[in-house]
Amino acid sequence: MLSSDVVIVGAGVSGLAAAHHLIAAGVSVSVLETADDPGGRMATASADGFRLDRVGQLLNTAYTEPARTPGLEGLTLRPFAPGVLVHGADGKRQRAGALTPARALASGSLDQARLSAALARLAALPPDRVLARPERTALAALRSRGLPPRTVNGILRPLLSALLRDPDLTTSSRVADLALRTFARGRLAVPEGGAATLPDLLAAGLPPGTVRTGIRVRSVATNLVTTEEHGDFACRSVLLATGARAAAELLPGLRVPAFHEVTVIHHATAEPLPWDGSLLLDADPEWPVAHTTVMSAVDPTRAPAGRSLVTTTVHGPPPPARTVASRLARLYDTATRGWELLAVHHTPEAVPAMPPPHDRQRPVRVLAGLYVCGDHRDSNTVQGALQSARRAATALLRDFGIPLQSHPEPVLPVAA
Ligand SMILES: Cc1cc2nc3c(=O)[nH]c(=O)nc-3n(C[C@H](O)[C@H](O)[C@H](O)COP(=O)(O)OP(=O)(O)OC[C@H]3O[C@@H](n4cnc5c(N)ncnc54)[C@H](O)[C@@H]3O)c2cc1C
Repeated sequence: MLSSDVVIVGAGVSGLAAAHHLIAAGVSVSVLETADDPGGRMATASADGFRLDRVGQLLNTAYTEPARTPGLEGLTLRPFAPGVLVHGADGKRQRAGALTPARALASGSLDQARLSAALARLAALPPDRVLARPERTALAALRSRGLPPRTVNGILRPLLSALLRDPDLTTSSRVADLALRTFARGRLAVPEGGAATLPDLLAAGLPPGTVRTGIRVRSVATNLVTTEEHGDFACRSVLLATGARAAAELLPGLRVPAFHEVTVIHHATAEPLPWDGSLLLDADPEWPVAHTTVMSAVDPTRAPAGRSLVTTTVHGPPPPARTVASRLARLYDTATRGWELLAVHHTPEAVPAMPPPHDRQRPVRVLAGLYVCGDHRDSNTVQGALQSARRAATALLRDFGIPLQSHPEPVLPVAA
């Protein structure tokens, strides 16, 4: 029987990050993954020179956790143009979140100046102060703050939908405020090379043989992990990093949350499409598109030379291809007839929902020897998944009597 100090079930970003923290503290680790490759939800397919994400990943240069995670030193973020570009229901476009209040005022828009001031105030608040605010749904909070309906419906609603992957804004207002705070402090960005770059970097930095793919775990106890076809693994502790539903199957009693559904659609344009690297939000609720961008303008490594990759996110099931093409024609003000549909990735359980009351630090220690991490223990983002991994590793090491190794906090390189 194979044995190691800790068996981690699941090689998504949280399982891989936890492996790094534990190995850095001198603990032996095996990571068992049912899929053929590590990465979990952060998967990127390659096709004809294009890099096609399954997830319409929006990271932020202000995320602190990637820099605290050993193994992610080589991560490069490709930022979008500052703020976001919003296409209103009236067909007009406006940039939001990019100007200081003074410059917004100088540009002649009182609404923009008010919004910039509100974002600047939020950016300056410590997280504890944000978390002390009354909690309700994000939509109820938005409607109660005295902002003009054109700012709420024309900017903040589509922006928060994109940040939270929640079109109805049923998410906790505290989570929403933290998401806006991060938006105001940094730049939206994508990992260079695709979402899979993150787990690939993490997996490559682990000692050879740590991650074993194609192994489905059937049951867990504190000192034993049983697999479908690969026998048993003996250990001193088990960390479940499987995602919420699979964790509850292995550990009945863990709560299964509701989920938000996401579809990501990739098109190759017939001609190179000039674009300034903005994330374009669609504020018209009559249409299914949440946001879209010329991804190859943000990250040129994702398309072959001379071609453009357009990546579009829909909050829900895949709409008819013709509906999407016709909306994109309007959004980009160009004919889309010659565009090639490269991929449609639909994930029914993309991210766990975070309605109020939301505990951002759900327990990661079930009992001594049994731990759980992943985005369902924190916030439903890469940042949340990585944070939960560090918390779980800390709890596990404490039970082993070992302090967590502190990791220097390098500044993440941001591509120009
Ligand atoms: C469509 C979509 C859009 C998203 N957009 C964003 C975004 O804009 N910004 C952002 O920050 N985050 C976003 N996310 C969320 C982010 O991708 C996740 O929070 C993160 O990847 C979760 O990582 P994890 O390690 O917790 O779980 P997972 O990635 O789900 O990893 C769990 C792993 O466990 C494995 N596993 C399950 N059961 C077993 C078993 N029995 N035995 C062995 N292995 C098992 C699975 O195969 C999987 O590899 C998005 C996700 C999706 C799907």
